[in-house]
Amino acid sequence: MINVLVWNEYLHERMYEGVGRIYPRGIHGCIAEFLGRCDDMNVKTVTLEDEDDALSDEVLSETDVLIWWGHMAHDKVSNETVDRVVRHINGGMGFIPLHSAHHSKVMKKLCGTTCNLGWRNDDKERIWTVSPMHPIAQGIPEHFELPHEEMYSEPFDIPNPDEVVFMGWFAGGEVFRSGVTFTRGGRIFYFQPGHEEYPTYHNETVQRVIINAVRWAAPVTRAHRCIPVENRKRLPE
Ligand code: ZN
Repeated sequence: MINVLVWNEYLHERMYEGVGRIYPRGIHGCIAEFLGRCDDMNVKTVTLEDEDDALSDEVLSETDVLIWWGHMAHDKVSNETVDRVVRHINGGMGFIPLHSAHHSKVMKKLCGTTCNLGWRNDDKERIWTVSPMHPIAQGIPEHFELPHEEMYSEPFDIPNPDEVVFMGWFAGGEVFRSGVTFTRGGRIFYFQPGHEEYPTYHNETVQRVIINAVRWAAPVTRAHRCIPVENRKRLPE
């Protein structure tokens, strides 16, 4: 079984009626619901309110893949929590930052860049599968459309990803690396769709991508450790 933890700041859904209507149980609730239908996943959720003990070392050691949705409260996540999460990712935990989590402290720390991008409020997006052989792309068509999504555009200030799995094209003409992977001990998949004002996480193709990403990011083994040289056995000459 893959232990999945879905973190969501859970503010927009409670502050704005329209968002609450789309996600009555929160974005985390919606994601947990479709992941929870997979026989190979145990899914738990956590929000900004229960932050400190909810992302403890104990919880993170039992988490195979952490999904992260945040937007207006990136700064409310304590640096101690960010350091702890990054340490667990470096030790093998999978990490899936969604949409505006590109500016989360965890993502910026993992990337070592600003993660800035261009954006505009509302547009149609066509997502192209550019690495069809990738495990995350299995069952995903050559391209699919989201009638409403926030436009994110290049330049996207990230280090060169390991792979670009999806490219987004917007009706305004912009393009964006919408699905990219990194390895930092654990496997990381950033996925751009998911603006809170649109029902993106109800879209079955988007759900399929996230399900595939969880399975791909689940660690084979944990706790990659650095062995101090003085403790290492001498190799035979
Ligand atoms: Zn957004």
